[in-house]
Amino acid sequence: MHGAAEWFCSRWSSDNSVFLPSGLRAARMPHRTIHLFRKGLRLHDHPALLAALESSEVVYPVYILDRKFMTSVMHIGALRWHFLLQSLEDLQKNLCRLGSHLLVIQGEYEPVLRDHVQKWNITQVTLDAEMEPFYKEMEANIRCLGEELGFEVLSVVGHSLYDTKRRCRPPDLDLAECYRVPLPADLKIPPESISPWKGGETEGLQRLEQHLADQGWVASFTKPRTIPNSLLPSTTGLSPYFSMGCVSVRTFFYRLSNIYAQAKHHSLPPVSLQGQLLWREFFYTVASATPNFTKMAGNPICLQISWYEDAERLHKWKTAQTGFPWIDAIMTQLRQEGWIHHLARHAAACFLTRGDLWISWEEGMKVFEELLLDADYSINAGNWMWLSASAFFHQYTRIFCPVRFGKRTDPEGQYIRKYLPVLKNFPSKYIYEPWTASEEEQKQAGCIIGKDYPFPMVDHKEASNHNLQLMKHVREEQYRTAQLTRDDTDDPMEMKLKRDHSEENVTKAKTARMTEQT
Ligand code: FAD
Repeated sequence: MHGAAEWFCSRWSSDNSVFLPSGLRAARMPHRTIHLFRKGLRLHDHPALLAALESSEVVYPVYILDRKFMTSVMHIGALRWHFLLQSLEDLQKNLCRLGSHLLVIQGEYEPVLRDHVQKWNITQVTLDAEMEPFYKEMEANIRCLGEELGFEVLSVVGHSLYDTKRRCRPPDLDLAECYRVPLPADLKIPPESISPWKGGETEGLQRLEQHLADQGWVASFTKPRTIPNSLLPSTTGLSPYFSMGCVSVRTFFYRLSNIYAQAKHHSLPPVSLQGQLLWREFFYTVASATPNFTKMAGNPICLQISWYEDAERLHKWKTAQTGFPWIDAIMTQLRQEGWIHHLARHAAACFLTRGDLWISWEEGMKVFEELLLDADYSINAGNWMWLSASAFFHQYTRIFCPVRFGKRTDPEGQYIRKYLPVLKNFPSKYIYEPWTASEEEQKQAGCIIGKDYPFPMVDHKEASNHNLQLMKHVREEQYRTAQLTRDDTDDPMEMKLKRDHSEENVTKAKTARMTEQT
Protein backbone atom coordinates (compact mmCIF):
# COMPACT_ATOMS: atom_id res chain seq x y z
CA MET A 1 0.00 0.00 0.00
CA HIS A 2 2.69 2.47 0.96
CA GLY A 3 4.69 1.77 -2.12
CA ALA A 4 1.67 2.41 -4.32
CA ALA A 5 0.95 5.69 -2.57
CA GLU A 6 4.57 6.75 -2.87
CA TRP A 7 4.60 5.86 -6.53
CA PHE A 8 1.43 7.83 -7.04
CA CYS A 9 3.07 10.80 -5.45
CA SER A 10 6.28 10.62 -7.38
CA ARG A 11 4.50 9.97 -10.65
CA TRP A 12 2.31 13.03 -10.31
CA SER A 13 5.03 15.21 -8.96
CA SER A 14 7.33 14.37 -11.80
CA ASP A 15 4.59 15.33 -14.21
CA ASN A 16 4.31 18.77 -12.67
CA SER A 17 4.56 20.64 -15.94
CA VAL A 18 1.06 19.44 -16.72
CA PHE A 19 -0.43 19.05 -13.37
CA LEU A 20 0.99 21.58 -10.98
CA PRO A 21 0.39 25.31 -11.02
CA SER A 22 3.62 27.23 -11.39
CA GLY A 23 3.02 29.27 -8.26
CA LEU A 24 3.16 26.16 -6.15
CA ARG A 25 6.25 24.79 -7.79
CA ALA A 26 8.52 27.27 -6.11
CA ALA A 27 7.39 26.26 -2.65
CA ARG A 28 8.52 22.65 -2.93
CA MET A 29 9.24 21.04 0.47
CA PRO A 30 9.82 17.40 1.19
CA HIS A 31 6.80 16.69 3.41
CA ARG A 32 5.36 13.31 4.24
CA THR A 33 1.70 14.04 3.86
CA ILE A 34 -1.68 12.55 4.59
CA HIS A 35 -4.17 14.05 2.21
CA LEU A 36 -7.42 13.69 4.06
CA PHE A 37 -10.41 13.39 1.74
CA ARG A 38 -13.63 14.59 3.38
CA LYS A 39 -15.70 16.00 0.55
CA GLY A 40 -13.69 16.69 -2.59
CA LEU A 41 -13.92 13.05 -3.70
CA ARG A 42 -12.27 13.72 -7.03
CA LEU A 43 -8.92 14.08 -8.71
CA HIS A 44 -9.63 16.99 -11.07
CA ASP A 45 -9.39 20.62 -9.97
CA HIS A 46 -8.36 19.79 -6.45
CA PRO A 47 -6.23 22.60 -4.99
CA ALA A 48 -5.60 20.88 -1.65
CA LEU A 49 -4.49 17.67 -3.31
CA LEU A 50 -2.28 19.60 -5.70
CA ALA A 51 -0.72 21.43 -2.80
CA ALA A 52 -0.08 18.09 -1.08
CA LEU A 53 1.57 16.64 -4.16
CA GLU A 54 3.67 19.68 -4.73
CA SER A 55 5.02 19.96 -1.23
CA SER A 56 5.62 16.31 -0.44
CA GLU A 57 7.88 13.40 -1.16
CA VAL A 58 5.16 10.98 -0.07
CA VAL A 59 1.39 11.45 -0.12
CA TYR A 60 -1.05 9.06 1.53
CA PRO A 61 -4.54 9.55 0.08
CA VAL A 62 -6.74 8.77 3.08
CA TYR A 63 -10.45 8.63 3.74
CA ILE A 64 -11.36 8.15 7.41
CA LEU A 65 -14.73 6.48 7.58
CA ASP A 66 -15.76 7.77 11.00
CA ARG A 67 -19.34 6.54 11.30
CA LYS A 68 -19.71 7.95 14.78
CA PHE A 69 -18.77 11.43 13.62
CA MET A 70 -20.90 11.20 10.51
CA THR A 71 -24.05 10.02 12.15
CA SER A 72 -23.69 12.56 14.94
CA VAL A 73 -23.37 15.57 12.65
CA MET A 74 -25.22 14.53 9.49
CA HIS A 75 -28.40 12.70 8.78
CA ILE A 76 -27.22 10.42 6.04
CA GLY A 77 -29.95 8.25 4.55
CA ALA A 78 -29.35 4.94 2.82
CA LEU A 79 -29.32 6.45 -0.62
CA ARG A 80 -26.60 8.93 0.30
CA TRP A 81 -24.55 6.15 1.95
CA HIS A 82 -24.67 4.27 -1.33
CA PHE A 83 -23.74 7.36 -3.20
CA LEU A 84 -20.83 8.02 -0.87
CA LEU A 85 -19.51 4.48 -1.10
CA GLN A 86 -19.81 4.52 -4.89
CA SER A 87 -17.89 7.80 -4.94
CA LEU A 88 -15.15 6.31 -2.76
CA GLU A 89 -15.07 3.25 -4.99
CA ASP A 90 -14.71 5.47 -8.05
CA LEU A 91 -11.99 7.54 -6.41
CA GLN A 92 -10.19 4.35 -5.55
CA LYS A 93 -10.41 3.18 -9.18
CA ASN A 94 -9.19 6.49 -10.52
CA LEU A 95 -6.26 6.52 -8.12
CA CYS A 96 -5.57 2.92 -9.00
CA ARG A 97 -5.37 3.88 -12.67
CA LEU A 98 -2.53 6.20 -11.68
CA GLY A 99 -0.85 3.42 -9.74
CA SER A 100 -2.05 4.51 -6.32
CA HIS A 101 -4.72 3.55 -3.80
CA LEU A 102 -7.25 5.25 -1.64
CA LEU A 103 -6.58 4.23 1.93
CA VAL A 104 -9.96 3.94 3.67
CA ILE A 105 -9.50 3.72 7.43
CA GLN A 106 -12.47 3.00 9.64
CA GLY A 107 -12.62 4.46 13.13
CA GLU A 108 -12.81 7.77 14.97
CA TYR A 109 -10.79 10.37 13.17
CA GLU A 110 -8.67 11.57 16.10
CA PRO A 111 -7.20 8.24 17.22
CA VAL A 112 -6.94 7.13 13.56
CA LEU A 113 -4.90 10.20 12.69
CA ARG A 114 -2.78 10.05 15.84
CA ASP A 115 -1.98 6.45 15.07
CA HIS A 116 -1.14 6.87 11.38
CA VAL A 117 0.74 10.14 11.73
CA GLN A 118 3.15 8.35 14.04
CA LYS A 119 3.21 5.17 12.01
CA TRP A 120 4.02 6.91 8.72
CA ASN A 121 6.16 9.77 10.12
CA ILE A 122 3.71 12.30 8.78
CA THR A 123 4.80 15.96 8.71
CA GLN A 124 1.75 17.43 7.00
CA VAL A 125 -1.99 16.86 6.72
CA THR A 126 -3.77 18.48 3.82
CA LEU A 127 -7.52 18.79 3.47
CA ASP A 128 -10.24 20.79 1.78
CA ALA A 129 -11.34 23.78 3.83
CA GLU A 130 -15.07 23.37 4.50
CA MET A 131 -17.53 25.86 5.94
CA GLU A 132 -19.81 23.57 7.99
CA PRO A 133 -19.31 24.04 11.76
CA PHE A 134 -18.65 20.34 12.36
CA TYR A 135 -15.99 20.19 9.64
CA LYS A 136 -14.47 23.41 10.98
CA GLU A 137 -14.37 21.84 14.42
CA MET A 138 -12.74 18.75 12.95
CA GLU A 139 -10.11 20.93 11.31
CA ALA A 140 -9.49 22.79 14.58
CA ASN A 141 -9.04 19.47 16.38
CA ILE A 142 -6.64 18.25 13.70
CA ARG A 143 -4.66 21.48 14.09
CA CYS A 144 -4.41 20.88 17.86
CA LEU A 145 -3.23 17.37 17.17
CA GLY A 146 -0.71 18.81 14.74
CA GLU A 147 0.70 21.08 17.40
CA GLU A 148 0.96 18.17 19.76
CA LEU A 149 2.52 15.71 17.32
CA GLY A 150 4.48 18.19 15.23
CA PHE A 151 2.79 18.10 11.84
CA GLU A 152 1.54 21.00 9.75
CA VAL A 153 -2.02 21.37 8.56
CA LEU A 154 -2.80 22.89 5.20
CA SER A 155 -6.41 23.48 4.26
CA VAL A 156 -7.32 24.97 0.90
CA VAL A 157 -10.67 26.15 -0.45
CA GLY A 158 -11.88 23.91 -3.25
CA HIS A 159 -15.55 23.27 -2.64
CA SER A 160 -16.91 26.69 -3.54
CA LEU A 161 -16.03 29.16 -6.26
CA TYR A 162 -14.87 31.71 -3.73
CA ASP A 163 -13.30 31.58 -0.33
CA THR A 164 -16.36 32.38 1.74
CA LYS A 165 -14.23 33.54 4.66
CA ARG A 166 -12.35 36.07 2.66
CA ARG A 167 -13.37 39.67 3.05
CA CYS A 168 -11.51 42.43 1.32
CA ARG A 169 -11.73 45.62 3.35
CA PRO A 170 -11.23 48.98 1.71
CA PRO A 171 -8.32 51.05 3.03
CA ASP A 172 -9.06 53.57 5.79
CA LEU A 173 -10.31 56.93 4.63
CA ASP A 174 -7.23 58.61 6.15
CA LEU A 175 -4.97 56.48 4.02
CA ALA A 176 -6.98 57.27 0.90
CA GLU A 177 -6.54 60.98 1.61
CA CYS A 178 -2.76 60.68 1.95
CA TYR A 179 -2.37 58.60 -1.19
CA ARG A 180 -4.84 60.27 -3.55
CA VAL A 181 -4.37 60.39 -7.33
CA PRO A 182 -2.44 63.59 -8.01
CA LEU A 183 -3.92 66.35 -10.13
CA PRO A 184 -2.15 67.21 -13.41
CA ALA A 185 -1.07 70.50 -11.81
CA ASP A 186 0.61 68.59 -8.94
CA LEU A 187 2.84 66.97 -11.55
CA LYS A 188 3.23 70.21 -13.50
CA ILE A 189 1.45 68.70 -16.48
CA PRO A 190 -0.29 71.33 -18.63
CA PRO A 191 -4.08 71.53 -18.14
CA GLU A 192 -6.27 69.05 -19.95
CA SER A 193 -6.07 69.32 -23.70
CA ILE A 194 -9.06 69.08 -25.99
CA SER A 195 -8.58 65.36 -26.44
CA PRO A 196 -11.98 63.69 -26.63
CA TRP A 197 -10.52 60.56 -25.08
CA LYS A 198 -11.13 60.00 -21.40
CA GLY A 199 -9.03 57.50 -19.52
CA GLY A 200 -10.30 54.66 -17.39
CA GLU A 201 -11.95 51.28 -17.28
CA THR A 202 -15.48 52.73 -17.11
CA GLU A 203 -15.04 54.75 -20.29
CA GLY A 204 -13.21 51.87 -22.01
CA LEU A 205 -15.90 49.34 -21.17
CA GLN A 206 -18.60 51.73 -22.32
CA ARG A 207 -16.84 52.05 -25.65
CA LEU A 208 -16.46 48.28 -25.84
CA GLU A 209 -20.17 47.72 -25.10
CA GLN A 210 -21.22 50.34 -27.64
CA HIS A 211 -19.31 48.58 -30.37
CA LEU A 212 -20.32 45.09 -29.35
CA ALA A 213 -23.98 46.10 -29.30
CA ASP A 214 -23.77 46.50 -33.06
CA GLN A 215 -23.27 42.85 -33.84
CA GLY A 216 -23.62 43.33 -37.58
CA TRP A 217 -20.80 45.89 -37.57
CA VAL A 218 -18.62 43.60 -35.47
CA ALA A 219 -19.24 40.54 -37.64
CA SER A 220 -18.56 42.33 -40.91
CA PHE A 221 -15.64 44.51 -39.69
CA THR A 222 -12.98 44.57 -42.38
CA LYS A 223 -10.07 46.80 -41.46
CA PRO A 224 -9.12 47.96 -44.96
CA ARG A 225 -12.67 49.26 -45.44
CA THR A 226 -12.44 51.58 -42.46
CA ILE A 227 -11.82 55.25 -43.14
CA PRO A 228 -8.68 57.04 -42.01
CA ASN A 229 -10.10 60.54 -42.20
CA SER A 230 -13.57 60.14 -40.74
CA LEU A 231 -14.28 62.78 -38.13
CA LEU A 232 -15.08 60.12 -35.55
CA PRO A 233 -13.01 56.92 -35.35
CA SER A 234 -14.14 54.35 -37.90
CA THR A 235 -12.45 51.57 -35.94
CA THR A 236 -13.12 50.69 -32.30
CA GLY A 237 -10.82 53.31 -30.77
CA LEU A 238 -10.09 50.85 -28.00
CA SER A 239 -6.31 51.00 -28.37
CA PRO A 240 -5.69 53.56 -25.58
CA TYR A 241 -7.68 51.36 -23.20
CA PHE A 242 -5.86 48.20 -24.25
CA SER A 243 -2.55 49.97 -24.08
CA MET A 244 -3.07 51.15 -20.49
CA GLY A 245 -4.76 47.87 -19.61
CA CYS A 246 -8.06 49.59 -18.74
CA VAL A 247 -9.84 47.03 -20.93
CA SER A 248 -8.72 43.45 -21.23
CA VAL A 249 -7.90 42.19 -24.71
CA ARG A 250 -8.95 38.75 -23.52
CA THR A 251 -12.43 39.99 -22.63
CA PHE A 252 -12.67 41.63 -26.04
CA PHE A 253 -11.45 38.52 -27.84
CA TYR A 254 -13.94 36.17 -26.16
CA ARG A 255 -16.84 38.59 -26.54
CA LEU A 256 -16.01 38.70 -30.24
CA SER A 257 -15.98 34.88 -30.36
CA ASN A 258 -19.48 34.84 -28.91
CA ILE A 259 -20.73 37.28 -31.52
CA TYR A 260 -19.06 35.34 -34.34
CA ALA A 261 -20.66 32.13 -33.03
CA GLN A 262 -24.09 33.67 -33.45
CA ALA A 263 -23.45 35.31 -36.82
CA LYS A 264 -24.27 33.63 -40.13
CA HIS A 265 -21.13 35.05 -41.68
CA HIS A 266 -18.29 37.00 -40.21
CA SER A 267 -15.01 38.42 -41.42
CA LEU A 268 -11.81 36.56 -40.69
CA PRO A 269 -8.25 37.40 -39.64
CA PRO A 270 -6.22 39.28 -40.64
CA VAL A 271 -8.88 41.88 -41.47
CA SER A 272 -11.50 41.03 -38.81
CA LEU A 273 -11.55 42.53 -35.34
CA GLN A 274 -10.09 39.37 -33.88
CA GLY A 275 -7.50 39.67 -36.62
CA GLN A 276 -6.51 43.08 -35.24
CA LEU A 277 -5.87 41.52 -31.87
CA LEU A 278 -3.77 38.89 -33.58
CA TRP A 279 -1.63 41.63 -35.12
CA ARG A 280 -1.12 42.91 -31.60
CA GLU A 281 -0.17 39.44 -30.48
CA PHE A 282 2.14 39.10 -33.46
CA PHE A 283 4.13 42.22 -32.57
CA TYR A 284 4.26 41.24 -28.91
CA THR A 285 5.60 37.83 -29.85
CA VAL A 286 8.29 39.13 -32.19
CA ALA A 287 9.26 41.92 -29.80
CA SER A 288 9.67 39.50 -26.92
CA ALA A 289 12.10 37.40 -28.93
CA THR A 290 14.06 40.16 -30.69
CA PRO A 291 16.97 41.98 -29.06
CA ASN A 292 16.95 45.76 -29.46
CA PHE A 293 13.49 45.62 -30.98
CA THR A 294 12.92 49.36 -30.65
CA LYS A 295 16.22 50.27 -32.28
CA MET A 296 17.85 49.77 -35.63
CA ALA A 297 21.36 49.07 -34.34
CA GLY A 298 21.74 45.61 -32.92
CA ASN A 299 18.28 44.59 -34.09
CA PRO A 300 18.77 41.44 -36.15
CA ILE A 301 15.51 41.68 -38.12
CA CYS A 302 15.89 45.32 -39.06
CA LEU A 303 17.58 46.63 -42.20
CA GLN A 304 20.53 48.85 -41.34
CA ILE A 305 19.88 52.07 -43.21
CA SER A 306 21.83 55.32 -43.35
CA TRP A 307 18.88 57.58 -42.73
CA TYR A 308 19.36 61.34 -43.00
CA GLU A 309 19.82 63.27 -39.77
CA ASP A 310 17.85 66.43 -40.30
CA ALA A 311 16.47 68.02 -37.13
CA GLU A 312 14.76 70.84 -39.00
CA ARG A 313 12.83 68.57 -41.32
CA LEU A 314 11.94 66.25 -38.46
CA HIS A 315 10.60 69.24 -36.56
CA LYS A 316 8.45 70.31 -39.50
CA TRP A 317 6.93 66.85 -39.74
CA LYS A 318 6.35 66.67 -36.00
CA THR A 319 4.75 70.10 -35.77
CA ALA A 320 2.49 69.75 -38.82
CA GLN A 321 4.37 72.13 -41.08
CA THR A 322 5.21 69.85 -44.01
CA GLY A 323 3.03 71.87 -46.38
CA PHE A 324 1.04 68.72 -47.27
CA PRO A 325 -2.40 69.27 -45.69
CA TRP A 326 -3.17 65.53 -45.43
CA ILE A 327 0.03 64.88 -43.47
CA ASP A 328 -0.28 68.05 -41.39
CA ALA A 329 -3.91 67.34 -40.50
CA ILE A 330 -2.88 63.89 -39.30
CA MET A 331 -0.05 65.25 -37.20
CA THR A 332 -2.40 67.89 -35.78
CA GLN A 333 -4.98 65.30 -34.81
CA LEU A 334 -2.21 63.27 -33.23
CA ARG A 335 -0.92 66.23 -31.24
CA GLN A 336 -4.35 67.48 -30.16
CA GLU A 337 -6.15 64.21 -29.51
CA GLY A 338 -3.53 61.49 -29.12
CA TRP A 339 -5.17 59.03 -31.51
CA ILE A 340 -5.14 58.67 -35.29
CA HIS A 341 -6.46 55.94 -37.58
CA HIS A 342 -4.16 53.14 -38.63
CA LEU A 343 -3.98 54.33 -42.23
CA ALA A 344 -3.28 57.88 -41.12
CA ARG A 345 -0.36 56.40 -39.19
CA HIS A 346 0.67 54.70 -42.44
CA ALA A 347 0.65 58.00 -44.30
CA ALA A 348 2.59 59.95 -41.67
CA ALA A 349 5.14 57.18 -41.13
CA CYS A 350 5.77 56.53 -44.79
CA PHE A 351 6.19 60.25 -45.44
CA LEU A 352 8.82 60.62 -42.70
CA THR A 353 10.83 57.55 -43.68
CA ARG A 354 11.06 55.80 -47.01
CA GLY A 355 8.48 57.98 -48.77
CA ASP A 356 9.71 61.55 -48.63
CA LEU A 357 12.09 62.63 -45.88
CA TRP A 358 14.30 59.55 -45.45
CA ILE A 359 14.47 60.14 -41.70
CA SER A 360 14.90 57.21 -39.33
CA TRP A 361 11.82 55.32 -38.17
CA GLU A 362 13.25 55.54 -34.65
CA GLU A 363 12.71 59.30 -34.70
CA GLY A 364 9.12 58.85 -35.81
CA MET A 365 8.56 56.14 -33.23
CA LYS A 366 9.75 58.48 -30.48
CA VAL A 367 7.34 61.19 -31.61
CA PHE A 368 4.46 58.70 -31.67
CA GLU A 369 5.53 57.42 -28.28
CA GLU A 370 5.25 60.92 -26.90
CA LEU A 371 1.98 61.83 -28.58
CA LEU A 372 -0.06 58.63 -28.87
CA LEU A 373 -2.42 57.70 -26.06
CA ASP A 374 -2.00 54.08 -27.09
CA ALA A 375 1.81 54.20 -27.35
CA ASP A 376 3.03 50.66 -26.97
CA TYR A 377 6.58 49.31 -26.90
CA SER A 378 6.04 46.39 -29.28
CA ILE A 379 3.27 47.65 -31.56
CA ASN A 380 4.77 51.06 -32.13
CA ALA A 381 8.25 49.85 -33.00
CA GLY A 382 6.89 46.92 -35.03
CA ASN A 383 4.66 49.13 -37.14
CA TRP A 384 7.37 51.73 -37.66
CA MET A 385 9.70 49.04 -38.94
CA TRP A 386 6.86 47.82 -41.12
CA LEU A 387 6.04 51.22 -42.60
CA SER A 388 9.65 52.14 -43.19
CA ALA A 389 10.12 48.72 -44.87
CA SER A 390 12.91 48.02 -42.40
CA ALA A 391 11.28 44.70 -41.50
CA PHE A 392 8.06 42.71 -42.15
CA PHE A 393 6.96 44.71 -45.18
CA HIS A 394 8.48 44.07 -48.56
CA GLN A 395 6.34 45.86 -51.12
CA TYR A 396 8.62 48.83 -50.65
CA THR A 397 7.94 50.10 -54.13
CA ARG A 398 4.51 51.16 -52.94
CA ILE A 399 4.87 54.67 -51.68
CA PHE A 400 1.90 56.62 -50.38
CA CYS A 401 1.20 59.85 -52.17
CA PRO A 402 0.61 62.62 -49.58
CA VAL A 403 -1.87 64.28 -51.94
CA ARG A 404 -3.92 61.40 -53.32
CA PHE A 405 -4.05 59.09 -50.30
CA GLY A 406 -6.62 61.00 -48.28
CA LYS A 407 -8.69 62.14 -51.24
CA ARG A 408 -10.31 58.79 -51.91
CA THR A 409 -12.23 58.62 -48.64
CA ASP A 410 -12.66 62.36 -48.06
CA PRO A 411 -12.71 64.22 -51.38
CA GLU A 412 -14.18 67.36 -49.79
CA GLY A 413 -11.35 67.46 -47.27
CA GLN A 414 -13.60 67.76 -44.21
CA TYR A 415 -10.89 66.18 -42.10
CA ILE A 416 -8.33 68.73 -43.25
CA ARG A 417 -10.76 71.59 -42.67
CA LYS A 418 -11.33 70.38 -39.12
CA TYR A 419 -7.70 70.00 -38.14
CA LEU A 420 -6.20 72.78 -40.27
CA PRO A 421 -8.79 75.58 -40.03
CA VAL A 422 -6.37 77.92 -41.81
CA LEU A 423 -7.22 76.00 -45.00
CA LYS A 424 -10.93 75.64 -44.41
CA ASN A 425 -12.07 78.11 -47.04
CA PHE A 426 -10.22 76.54 -49.95
CA PRO A 427 -12.43 74.91 -52.59
CA SER A 428 -12.28 71.10 -52.43
CA LYS A 429 -10.19 70.86 -55.58
CA TYR A 430 -7.33 72.64 -53.80
CA ILE A 431 -7.72 71.36 -50.29
CA TYR A 432 -5.06 68.62 -50.66
CA GLU A 433 -2.67 70.84 -52.64
CA PRO A 434 -3.45 74.49 -51.85
CA TRP A 435 -0.21 75.70 -53.44
CA THR A 436 -1.76 74.99 -56.82
CA ALA A 437 -4.46 77.62 -56.25
CA SER A 438 -3.86 80.95 -57.92
CA GLU A 439 -2.86 83.96 -55.86
CA GLU A 440 -6.36 85.32 -56.26
CA GLU A 441 -7.94 82.06 -55.09
CA GLN A 442 -5.58 81.98 -52.10
CA LYS A 443 -6.62 85.51 -51.21
CA GLN A 444 -10.27 84.53 -51.45
CA ALA A 445 -9.63 81.56 -49.15
CA GLY A 446 -7.94 83.91 -46.69
CA CYS A 447 -4.75 81.90 -46.70
CA ILE A 448 -1.59 82.79 -48.59
CA ILE A 449 0.67 79.81 -49.15
CA GLY A 450 4.18 80.56 -47.97
CA LYS A 451 2.80 83.03 -45.43
CA ASP A 452 -0.21 81.56 -43.63
CA TYR A 453 0.53 77.96 -44.48
CA PRO A 454 3.85 76.55 -45.74
CA PHE A 455 4.73 75.43 -49.23
CA PRO A 456 5.33 71.65 -49.51
CA MET A 457 8.67 70.92 -47.89
CA VAL A 458 9.67 68.49 -50.64
CA ASP A 459 8.81 67.69 -54.21
CA HIS A 460 7.11 64.38 -53.55
CA LYS A 461 7.78 62.95 -57.01
CA GLU A 462 11.44 63.71 -56.86
CA ALA A 463 11.98 62.71 -53.25
CA SER A 464 10.06 59.45 -53.42
CA ASN A 465 11.77 58.44 -56.63
CA HIS A 466 15.17 59.11 -55.12
CA ASN A 467 14.31 57.26 -51.90
CA LEU A 468 12.99 54.31 -53.83
CA GLN A 469 16.39 53.88 -55.44
CA LEU A 470 18.09 54.15 -52.05
CA MET A 471 15.79 51.52 -50.60
CA LYS A 472 16.26 49.23 -53.58
CA HIS A 473 20.00 49.43 -53.07
CA VAL A 474 19.76 48.74 -49.31
CA ARG A 475 17.57 45.73 -49.87
CA GLU A 476 19.85 44.25 -52.47
CA GLU A 477 22.82 44.77 -50.19
CA GLN A 478 21.07 43.30 -47.15
CA TYR A 479 19.08 40.64 -48.89
CA ARG A 480 19.46 38.13 -46.05
CA THR A 481 18.08 40.48 -43.39
CA ALA A 482 15.21 41.45 -45.66
CA GLN A 483 14.30 37.79 -46.08
CA LEU A 484 14.20 37.17 -42.32
CA THR A 485 10.75 38.67 -41.88
CA ARG A 486 9.45 37.88 -45.32
CA ASP A 487 6.06 36.25 -45.53
CA ASP A 488 4.35 35.36 -48.77
CA THR A 489 1.02 36.65 -47.60
CA ASP A 490 0.61 40.27 -48.46
CA ASP A 491 -0.49 42.93 -45.99
CA PRO A 492 -4.25 43.20 -46.49
CA MET A 493 -4.22 46.91 -45.77
CA GLU A 494 -1.69 47.47 -48.49
CA MET A 495 -3.56 45.32 -51.00
CA LYS A 496 -6.77 47.25 -50.55
CA LEU A 497 -4.97 50.53 -50.85
CA LYS A 498 -3.27 49.35 -53.94
CA ARG A 499 -6.63 48.60 -55.52
CA ASP A 500 -7.94 51.95 -54.47
CA HIS A 501 -5.13 53.87 -56.12
CA SER A 502 -4.00 55.57 -52.96
CA GLU A 503 -0.49 54.54 -53.62
CA GLU A 504 1.72 53.40 -56.40
CA ASN A 505 2.74 49.89 -57.16
CA VAL A 506 5.88 50.31 -59.07
CA THR A 507 7.07 47.07 -60.59
CA LYS A 508 10.69 46.72 -61.53
CA ALA A 509 10.07 47.33 -65.18
CA LYS A 510 7.80 50.27 -64.60
CA THR A 511 9.78 51.96 -61.86
CA ALA A 512 11.00 54.97 -63.78
CA ARG A 513 7.77 55.69 -65.60
CA MET A 514 5.52 55.18 -62.57
CA THR A 515 7.52 57.34 -60.20
CA GLU A 516 7.32 60.12 -62.71
CA GLN A 517 3.52 59.93 -62.48
CA THR A 518 3.47 60.09 -58.66
P1 FAD B 1 -9.00 48.55 -34.19
O1 FAD B 1 -8.89 48.46 -35.66
O2 FAD B 1 -10.34 48.72 -33.60
O3 FAD B 1 -8.30 47.25 -33.61
C1 FAD B 1 -8.56 46.74 -32.30
C2 FAD B 1 -7.25 46.57 -31.57
O4 FAD B 1 -6.37 45.69 -32.31
C3 FAD B 1 -6.44 47.86 -31.41
O5 FAD B 1 -6.92 48.62 -30.35
C4 FAD B 1 -5.04 47.32 -31.20
O6 FAD B 1 -4.85 46.90 -29.87
C5 FAD B 1 -5.02 46.10 -32.13
N1 FAD B 1 -4.45 46.49 -33.43
C6 FAD B 1 -5.08 47.03 -34.48
N2 FAD B 1 -4.23 47.22 -35.51
C7 FAD B 1 -3.03 46.78 -35.08
C8 FAD B 1 -1.73 46.69 -35.69
N3 FAD B 1 -1.50 47.09 -36.95
N4 FAD B 1 -0.71 46.21 -34.95
C9 FAD B 1 -0.91 45.78 -33.70
N5 FAD B 1 -2.11 45.83 -33.08
C10 FAD B 1 -3.16 46.31 -33.76
N6 FAD B 1 -1.14 50.59 -31.99
C11 FAD B 1 -1.02 50.68 -30.66
O7 FAD B 1 -1.87 50.15 -29.93
N7 FAD B 1 0.04 51.36 -30.10
C12 FAD B 1 1.00 51.96 -30.85
O8 FAD B 1 1.94 52.52 -30.31
C13 FAD B 1 0.87 51.89 -32.26
N8 FAD B 1 1.76 52.50 -33.06
C14 FAD B 1 1.62 52.44 -34.42
C15 FAD B 1 2.56 53.06 -35.24
C16 FAD B 1 2.44 53.01 -36.62
C17 FAD B 1 3.47 53.68 -37.49
C18 FAD B 1 1.36 52.33 -37.19
C19 FAD B 1 1.22 52.25 -38.68
C20 FAD B 1 0.44 51.68 -36.40
C21 FAD B 1 0.55 51.71 -35.01
N9 FAD B 1 -0.38 51.06 -34.16
C22 FAD B 1 -0.25 51.17 -32.81
C23 FAD B 1 -1.34 50.11 -34.72
C24 FAD B 1 -2.73 50.63 -35.05
O9 FAD B 1 -2.64 51.76 -35.86
C25 FAD B 1 -3.57 50.94 -33.82
O10 FAD B 1 -3.56 49.84 -32.94
C26 FAD B 1 -5.02 51.20 -34.20
O11 FAD B 1 -5.10 52.21 -35.15
C27 FAD B 1 -5.77 51.58 -32.94
O12 FAD B 1 -7.08 51.94 -33.24
P2 FAD B 1 -8.30 51.02 -32.84
O13 FAD B 1 -8.24 50.65 -31.40
O14 FAD B 1 -9.53 51.71 -33.31
O15 FAD B 1 -8.01 49.72 -33.70
